[in-house]
Amino acid sequence: GYQKVQEENRKLYNQVQDLKGNIRVYCRVRPFLSGQPNRTSAVGDIDERTITILTPSKSGKEGKKLFTFNKVFGPASSQEEVFADTQPLIRSVLDGYNVCIFAYGQTGSGKTHTMTGPAELTKESVGVNYRALSDLFLISEQRKNTCSYDISNGFNVPNANLVPVTSTSDVIYLMNLGHKNRAASSTSMNDRSSRSHSCLTVHVQGKDLTCGTVLRGCMHLVDLAGSERVDKSEVVGDRLKEAQHINKSLSALGDVIFSLAQKHPHVPYRNSKLTQLLQDSLGGQAKTLMFVHISPQPDAVGETISTLKFAERVSTIELGAAKSNKDSSDVKELKEQIASLKAALARKE
Ligand code: ADP
Ligand code: MG
Repeated sequence: GYQKVQEENRKLYNQVQDLKGNIRVYCRVRPFLSGQPNRTSAVGDIDERTITILTPSKSGKEGKKLFTFNKVFGPASSQEEVFADTQPLIRSVLDGYNVCIFAYGQTGSGKTHTMTGPAELTKESVGVNYRALSDLFLISEQRKNTCSYDISNGFNVPNANLVPVTSTSDVIYLMNLGHKNRAASSTSMNDRSSRSHSCLTVHVQGKDLTCGTVLRGCMHLVDLAGSERVDKSEVVGDRLKEAQHINKSLSALGDVIFSLAQKHPHVPYRNSKLTQLLQDSLGGQAKTLMFVHISPQPDAVGETISTLKFAERVSTIELGAAKSNKDSSDVKELKEQIASLKAALARKE
């Protein structure tokens, strides 16, 4: 009896924690790629939640910088492992939450690999996007909810055209289309893909057949443009304009996140198309996850450090409790249950 109460207590506590709206940050290190000079990695020790970056110093002595995140995935981590830790967040869309997942990092660090997968997709190598969609379809079937899905898979954050989808094969078709467009433009337009954002948006509307509640959830999966700083001496003309535009929207995203954190009455959503699009999925009402990607290469260590510094700052931000579109009494209810279990526990002691 006692143990069961305690177990139940812990479960409920975790659920309440889960409802808190901190931005979660997962760090992923990509492996050295074949054909790349296999020099010493700039990444030192890694465990569940921390990562050490080795920084060379002028005196020849090596420095170490430690960063802490909600989770760290090493270079050997599989797509399946990464998805396993993302799945609960994704499933909460079906409970009426708005969810936003970003991939952040410099060009070549593995953002597209995490979100979509490598150029040649296999069942094992597909990324979060494909897995998320098939998982949602599977779960809504199991729950016997009547769900309708609208999806847009856009390059460069277009004015999201939502297309209704009714089956997993519809989804796969749409995703492949997005993937192909991206691949094509990366060769023909001087790697445009790394200089624009791409966003997969899913709107779910469903009805819980057991209690009749209508659920409305929304999810954005965003593969952001490369976060590297632009060296103005190297880019000119249209490319410079484009690069500045991208940096502008990334910094607009940072501004939104930080002003939410400071609970500013005015949040500058309207400063970029990206933040306008994400308005309903960023903020106190939503659950947000950022994948921060880094390369193991020593010549990237400068970008790596500034990427991780930004990400660590993001991870300390508390946005307040996430709220389901279904019912705001969820948290209250859970708190009441915890209180009564605590009382039961106290009686046993
Ligand atoms: P980005 O989208 O950040 O520019 P990519 O996802 O295109 O970077 O990754 C660059 C290259 O590294 C690609 O060839 C990709 O397949 C490979 N890669 C990235 N992450 C991994 C990983 N975790 N495991 C294996 N290969 C990876
Ligand atoms: Mg990419």
